[in-house]
Amino acid sequence: MSSIGVLALQGDVSEHLRALAECGARAFGVKNREDLEKCDGLVIPGGESTTISKLARTFELFEPIRNKIKEGQPVYGSCAGMILIADRVNDAMAGQETFGGLDVTVRRNAFGRQVDSFESDLEFSSAKPFTFHAVFIRAPWVEEVGKDVSILASVDGHPVAVRQGNLFATAFHPELTSDGRIHKYFLEEVVKG
Ligand code: GLN
Repeated sequence: MSSIGVLALQGDVSEHLRALAECGARAFGVKNREDLEKCDGLVIPGGESTTISKLARTFELFEPIRNKIKEGQPVYGSCAGMILIADRVNDAMAGQETFGGLDVTVRRNAFGRQVDSFESDLEFSSAKPFTFHAVFIRAPWVEEVGKDVSILASVDGHPVAVRQGNLFATAFHPELTSDGRIHKYFLEEVVKG
């Protein structure tokens, strides 16, 4: 059984804990360095990316998370979490910092005001491809990908799920649905893979 931490500073923490537990993981919130050391994998939830990065500084988790990513820690970033593991952010707040590691450029709030929230059926390509009903809330999209990044799903030609080795990110929120296949993908193909 994998031990999966969910960065518990702000955002959809309890929803990810529930989804991970339903997939059979030992799931717990990460609030300090000690918690971080116990992780086989880390989930960075949706919420507000600027708030999460500022709180990570306050709780002295910013550099430790950045280092874990560099050391190869499996990390799944959803929505704000996708922004937080991206190397480059368009439409960032002034001075906005990311942990980085994922060689992509994301655009914050990319889908625009008129569709702040929407749902879409995606084709998710993995060893076992599947269709996934995805929920987007003020979501980013991926604008540029580095050569080692695989695109796993797109909406209207914009990548919304990507993977680069130990790093996996979705612009959508699987924790808000009862479909556990995205969390299972992280557990089975990124954490153990
Ligand atoms: N727009 C938010 C941000 O920039 C992300 C929204 C979300 O995580 N649902 O952080």
